[in-house]
Amino acid sequence: MTDQSPDHIRPASGGDVSLYAQARKIHPRAVKGANRSAKTVIAWLSILSVSLLPWLRWDRGAGHPDQAILFDFVAMRAYFLDTEIWPQEFYFLTGVLVIASIGLFLVTALYGRVWCGFACPQTVWTDIFVWIERRVEGDHNRRHKLDHAPWPTGKVVRKLVKHAAWLAVSLMTGASFLFFFNDAPRAAGAMLTGEAGIVLYGFVAMVGLMTYVMAGWAREQMCIYMCPWPRFQGAMLDHDSLVVAYDAGRGESRGHARVAQSFEGRGHCVDCRMCVQVCPVGIDIRDGIQMECIGCGLCADACDSVMPRFGLPRTLVGWRPFSHTSSEAPAPKQPWHRRPRLMIYGAIIGVTLAGMAVAGGQRRMLDMTILHDRSPVSVTLSDGSIRNDYTVKIVNRERAPRLLRLEVLGLAGAQVGVRDLGQTSDGQGLAAAADAVTTYRVSVRVPAGQAPAGATPIEFRLSDRTPGDEAVRPNTFIAEAAR
Ligand code: SF4
Ligand code: SF4
Repeated sequence: MTDQSPDHIRPASGGDVSLYAQARKIHPRAVKGANRSAKTVIAWLSILSVSLLPWLRWDRGAGHPDQAILFDFVAMRAYFLDTEIWPQEFYFLTGVLVIASIGLFLVTALYGRVWCGFACPQTVWTDIFVWIERRVEGDHNRRHKLDHAPWPTGKVVRKLVKHAAWLAVSLMTGASFLFFFNDAPRAAGAMLTGEAGIVLYGFVAMVGLMTYVMAGWAREQMCIYMCPWPRFQGAMLDHDSLVVAYDAGRGESRGHARVAQSFEGRGHCVDCRMCVQVCPVGIDIRDGIQMECIGCGLCADACDSVMPRFGLPRTLVGWRPFSHTSSEAPAPKQPWHRRPRLMIYGAIIGVTLAGMAVAGGQRRMLDMTILHDRSPVSVTLSDGSIRNDYTVKIVNRERAPRLLRLEVLGLAGAQVGVRDLGQTSDGQGLAAAADAVTTYRVSVRVPAGQAPAGATPIEFRLSDRTPGDEAVRPNTFIAEAAR
């Protein structure tokens, strides 16, 4: 059996095998091209969205937050422009997450790892940090040279400037995230005047430190070793998914070449290694499709800048269907052609959107949740009547208080008692605070001999006699005999 261990873990002379591989420092070379331009646009959009969106104002009337996008944990609300999501409506956020996840599956089935290569925050912030590094320390070769230079040179100053810039971007990122959860102008003012609490400073420091470590130091290690997505994204790919690939049929056999030489009888790859030098994860795309590849397409840009110098057509490295990475393979179909997985992903997104639309259409300004007491589930009183107790939470989305009436339907002789208003209450005059949830303890009592044995389905109806504005919720009444 032959030893197939990679060189870095193969013992030199039959000793113990080390499973530790030291991370290589990668200094990707700058490159221009279509993929690089798309990445730059997405990076700008991402950083501008994170920085500016919390400052966008939206008038919701006096006494209500005027921040367009706000996750207010104290008031337990999420605000998106005119949409206000209460804790009882968190299924909307669930719907958004389902659509985002399945949308990611759909995009991956079509275009491979474009999320990783273009839009993932880890990629975007690493790109920004590498850009800063390049401005301060120079491109690829100069950065490698600086790493090996002695410290008492300009190296100290350059490294200090780079890390100071990284820390500034990291703290700004932390503050921007904070502003999505707090009123931005007030929180910024409090932080600048030293009046913010330890929680706010701690949050900014924590997010800032994570950004600094993940985008400045860990970089591609996050994608290769820590992110779970590369492990299972293969399940979303099929033969028609687009991936970045090297056309080995056209490129091999490779070898150095001179401008204007003939390529008769040899491959088009001139072995310049530009595709390797620009790669942010430090792999060689010519070795085939690899787990580390984030699908950023920078190697394609690099090769496209080399090919014309030799009078050769571009796209020796480029976007290709998974089943057609070599020009010797059969002609591919378009990725959008009818594929079962695309239809399944599309159907899930459609059903989720329809469900959210229906739920949104049924949204009322008045709502309630009812919880039947379990201990005891039913009480027989001294006069033989039977009582069940419930906790009723009234959701009043109106910005004014309301006086409401609670009735029980489907149970002859039932009397509603609201403990907080006195047992004699008939369910009338329940005050619901404005724009809030009000909780009442409610009893339903049925005179002796009138309650059917066992569990009887009933309905609670809450209204203030405004036509169409009522809440009806099913529940059960349980007679003693059922215990
Ligand atoms: S191999 Fe190409 S597409 Fe893959 S990560 Fe490297 S540069 Fe990006
Ligand atoms: S950039 Fe193109 S020509 Fe140069 S080594 Fe890579 S594949 Fe070959």
